[in-house]
Amino acid sequence: MPRKKIVAGNWKMNLDRAKARELAGAVAARSGEAAGVELVLCPPALYLDAVGAALAAAKSNVGLGGQNMHDKASGAFTGEVAPPMLLDLGCTYVILGHSERRTLFGETDAIVNAKTKAALAAGLTPIVCVGETLEEREGGRTDAVVTTQVRGSLAGLSPADLEKVVIAYEPVWAIGTGKVATPQQAQEVHALIRSLLGSLASSEVAGKIRIQYGGSVKPDNAADLASQPDIDGALVGGASLKADDFLGIAKAFR
Ligand code: PEP
Repeated sequence: MPRKKIVAGNWKMNLDRAKARELAGAVAARSGEAAGVELVLCPPALYLDAVGAALAAAKSNVGLGGQNMHDKASGAFTGEVAPPMLLDLGCTYVILGHSERRTLFGETDAIVNAKTKAALAAGLTPIVCVGETLEEREGGRTDAVVTTQVRGSLAGLSPADLEKVVIAYEPVWAIGTGKVATPQQAQEVHALIRSLLGSLASSEVAGKIRIQYGGSVKPDNAADLASQPDIDGALVGGASLKADDFLGIAKAFR
């Protein structure tokens, strides 16, 4: 069975509640333009409720996701969001280990691994982000860095759990820079990740796992990325803040 393409919007710390509702409503109303592609919106945690309500009101099947979470279900963790809270608000996805979390908030592979396990245990689908910096790429260390991140972030997962995970390959040098990886550069790393997943589980399981590309994806570069055999969708930052651009990207993956 072909892998269902998945395009997710990471709104990061942008918009206000009214604008979040409006954008969700616009994407939901026009989601049919990208029929067959799974769409997911990841608004700021405080707006999950409002965005979930807007998606429900539009009777759309656009999914809802968190941008981060804690690995514990409850407790004395001031300011944090627990997996059951995301579920409670209607989330089915959660982005984990985004490069901004890794570099600005000190998230290690071990932390991402604990969160990935917690998400799966709670019934959320984790979108696990990996990717090299420019310095690492220029130093010829891309494969080693991505291999370490994938192995570390997914350590100890059963093949059945691995199958549920979505991976986002996001070269750090391409995030928010307007400098997109070439389709060939992206495909090479996606193929590496898939073969790594094969060694962690089996080639059958690896063949089912969806691997998104992220990093300056725009409507005008999405089709070339989508044409690559191991690119199963996109994780979109900046361009996800405009319904036209987000849907333009999603359409390229039909
Ligand atoms: C991201 O932050 O996940 C991302 C891919 O951002 P952008 O699309 O803006 O590069």
